[in-house]
Amino acid sequence: MFDTLSDRLTSVLTNLRGKGRLSDADIDATAREIRIALLEADVALPVVRSFIKGVKDRAKGAEVSQALNPAQQVIKIVNEELVIILGGETRRLEFAKTPPTVIMLAGLQGSGKTTLAGKLAKWLAGQGHTPLLVACDLQRPNAVNQLQVVGERAGVPVFAPEPGNGVGDPVEVSRRSIDEARRAQHDIVIVDTAGRLGIDEEMMKQAADIRDAITPDEILFVLDAMIGQDAVNTAEAFRDGVGFSGVVLTKLDGDARGGAALSVREVTGQPIMFASSGEQLADFDVFHPDRMANRILG
Ligand code: GDP
Repeated sequence: MFDTLSDRLTSVLTNLRGKGRLSDADIDATAREIRIALLEADVALPVVRSFIKGVKDRAKGAEVSQALNPAQQVIKIVNEELVIILGGETRRLEFAKTPPTVIMLAGLQGSGKTTLAGKLAKWLAGQGHTPLLVACDLQRPNAVNQLQVVGERAGVPVFAPEPGNGVGDPVEVSRRSIDEARRAQHDIVIVDTAGRLGIDEEMMKQAADIRDAITPDEILFVLDAMIGQDAVNTAEAFRDGVGFSGVVLTKLDGDARGGAALSVREVTGQPIMFASSGEQLADFDVFHPDRMANRILG
């Protein structure tokens, strides 16, 4: 996903190698080129600004002028500033003191929520947890069935309304799922919710109602990194409409520019916690800001 950005940054920084001292003009020129590379990759403007400021302030200070190898030092600064933009430390899931830990997924339709539910469930089951998947997307006719298929592949049970028993209300389903988790001793509940193709008040309200019914320990906002510049607006709308404690970036295997998704931490203040990079359940990992920065800088 970040190949172009990665190539651009690497070539800007490679130009510095072999230089002895770096003048302020050298640093300004480098910062300018980094700025263009970030903007062309769709990184949000305020994020680019704070990134460039961080790099310039540090590169013009004693950190570089007194370094044995100034170019190397600038590369190190760019790497560290990138880690900061991406959230610094890896943020792990927070588990409830008294089980079940309730994880709610929110995001637009097609963002990869249902797939992610399966990935997360499989990953948690692999660590010895006993998750329960919950189908609260009752909007899309096939969504419950899709979660059941995903659950089967993950080897994790799915709590869903049974056809014809009158439980068509997602809020009620979410509430009942917590009782079921206690009864059957599931230590984690993963609630899949309905999305729409675009931001929609009714969808936000339903997600907020589910949130109020089950008071999740984590609300994960699932964001398709392929949607480009819309990523930032969508994230802000979900932050304001539902609120979330972490972000999951999906479709990182795609070939879009992806910079907008990289801006989401800085724009919303919430950490990117997981990354999804394919349609298979195994294409999933914890998001490590330092590893992503290393990957981008080649
Ligand atoms: P939902 O509507 O938010 O529940 O989204 P789905 O889980 O149904 O995913 C929508 C489509 O994106 C499906 O075709 C998935 O197979 C696909 N998908 C989900 N995650 C990824 C991913 O990380 N990479 C790729 N390439 N496709 C994905």
